[in-house]
Amino acid sequence: MQDLQKITGYMGGLTPSATLAITAKAKALKAEGLDVCSMAAGEPDFDTPKAVKDACIQALNESKVYYTPASGLPELRKLVAKKFTEENNIPCTFEQCVVAPGAKFSVFSAIAALCGPGDEVIIPAPFWLSYPEMVNTTGAKPVIVNTKAENNFELVPEELEAAVTEKTKLMILTTPSNPTGAVYSRAKLEAIANIAVKHNFMILADEIYEKLVYDADKPHISIASLSEEIRNLTITVNGCSKAYSMTGWRIGFLTAPLWLAKRIIAFQSHTTSNVTTFAQYGAIAALEGKADADIENMRQAFAKRRDLIYSLVSKIDGIKCLRPQGAFYLLCDISAFGMGSDEFCTRLLEEEKLAAIPCSSFGADNMIRFSYACSEENIRKAAERLQSFVAKLNK
Ligand code: PMP
Ligand code: GLU
Repeated sequence: MQDLQKITGYMGGLTPSATLAITAKAKALKAEGLDVCSMAAGEPDFDTPKAVKDACIQALNESKVYYTPASGLPELRKLVAKKFTEENNIPCTFEQCVVAPGAKFSVFSAIAALCGPGDEVIIPAPFWLSYPEMVNTTGAKPVIVNTKAENNFELVPEELEAAVTEKTKLMILTTPSNPTGAVYSRAKLEAIANIAVKHNFMILADEIYEKLVYDADKPHISIASLSEEIRNLTITVNGCSKAYSMTGWRIGFLTAPLWLAKRIIAFQSHTTSNVTTFAQYGAIAALEGKADADIENMRQAFAKRRDLIYSLVSKIDGIKCLRPQGAFYLLCDISAFGMGSDEFCTRLLEEEKLAAIPCSSFGADNMIRFSYACSEENIRKAAERLQSFVAKLNK
């Protein structure tokens, strides 16, 4: 008799997302009444701006409850094209823009429409944990290129070039980065773009944390803005989740060369169909700029939290970290304690009720990640708990 549980395809062997699992565990422990301090969730703690909610409520009241095109409402795609063209300096038409249920699905649909068995996808580590698993689902091979703290966890162009083979189809670039907090400079992006053009592979630029940058000397730059040649090789992903505090709305979008955008739309038309119709009306209000004041307030709050967490945690004996330049994560090297990140985080949660993300599935088992998308009070409490845990270990 056949073994029905035998994994035969590429999709069945995935491991569940650790970020979502640990975030859920911390929430469950809190719900049981335990005083858990969670620095796990990669989601802003602010409410969605009122103008966005109002637009969605109005759409619902006006019975905007039917299917839209799988690629999104034309008016939303036009706003997405305007955003990429004007804010990111990536000239594109609305036909090149595709709306999806979250940036996660935009990343996935781009990989799925582009890659397959025999292809290689370069992923710099530490990476956001879902990239390699997404690549695995297509039968393509993730090729991990490690980066170092002394290089601000940015790719070294020579090391990138050394990893390129004739099978390289795609490279994933995350700036600002989850989990490292690095923001790539123009010079580094130019060097990466030159390598992509020279060897003719594509770049998936995940720019979901674009709005969350904190230093004047490290503004966000889109690699696709650097030249027409690199634009023709780049898929740029963004969305509403992080900038507008809309994680649960599931609104992501991308722009890609037209030939690939058409494939992505075909893929989405057979898999997800459209993003929830009334949610798309909320996204329209966001992209029309109706919440711009709110997003700047959130950015400023994150900038203060970044300074606070870095000043508190970088002082702790044995913990090594860099000052993040963007996103809302602090990546800490825990090599000094002689244990892997899973054991470290399990004990931290059990003994100190502090939830952090082990970076074993981010390609960096000597690292743990704190999300500072939480109150300053929570950050102070977390630093105290980490300090007390580390003090025990250092004894
Ligand atoms: N890219 C990165 C780097 C992320 O950290 C996340 C996490 N949310 C996503 C994409 C997916 O975002 P969304 O919630 O819009 O699917
Ligand atoms: N991206 C966020 C994180 O890294 C949310 C969880 C997820 O989608 O992985 O925590």
